[in-house]
Amino acid sequence: MNARAAPPGIGMTSQRTRERMVARLRAGGIADEAVLAAMASVPRHAFVDAALASRAYEDTALPIGFEQTISRPYVVARMLAAARAGRALGRALEVGTGCGYQAAVLARLAAEAFSIERIGALAEKARANLRPLRIANLRLVHGDGFRGLPEAAPFDAIVVAAAPREVPRALLEQLAPGGRLAIPVGDEEQELRVFERSARGFSEHRLDPVRFVPMRVGKG
Ligand code: SAH
Repeated sequence: MNARAAPPGIGMTSQRTRERMVARLRAGGIADEAVLAAMASVPRHAFVDAALASRAYEDTALPIGFEQTISRPYVVARMLAAARAGRALGRALEVGTGCGYQAAVLARLAAEAFSIERIGALAEKARANLRPLRIANLRLVHGDGFRGLPEAAPFDAIVVAAAPREVPRALLEQLAPGGRLAIPVGDEEQELRVFERSARGFSEHRLDPVRFVPMRVGKG
């Protein structure tokens, strides 16, 4: 069966399949209904190769080329919920566009969203994946996320989809007051950390152990 051609409501890529993914996320402890609604609305299967489309709503990472992966739905939800903390977001930044899936979800949660990718060919792929969705408030940038995006800062939320060994100072500095950075940190062993900017500096808390591709310096 060609899953992409299946009528809505029946195929492995249907709205109903997406609703089931969201129900699993909710059962798994994701409580941010805005994040869940955004994930119910973005067609994740449109961000992976056709051969993998039928697996797009499983809670698993999938290859997107260039040795990179689209993150597991649970991890996307967890990271966005942690960065949002129940607030309406003005400007938000993603580092590591990859195939563009998380950027599309982020754009549903922020007035203005930006996403940076270091590999030029992946940035192009994301652009092509996103074009049919016509998301007017999302800007993609080919660049090095270690620098952040000073020209668009400050951000109410920054989410990082690749793991550096240490938290890049530029990303902390580009947070607005009350802004939050969700970032996997580490090498072999990584954990998801959340930083919040307050008048007095930054507070930090640590969430789950995670497994992300490494964050690399410079444009590819
Ligand atoms: N958010 C993506 C997941 C992409 S995987 C999704 O929804 O599919 C992480 C991505 O981070 C890879 O594409 C990798 O090339 C990118 N990356 C790694 N280091 C980076 C850096 N310094 N700046 C920008 N992107 C980077």
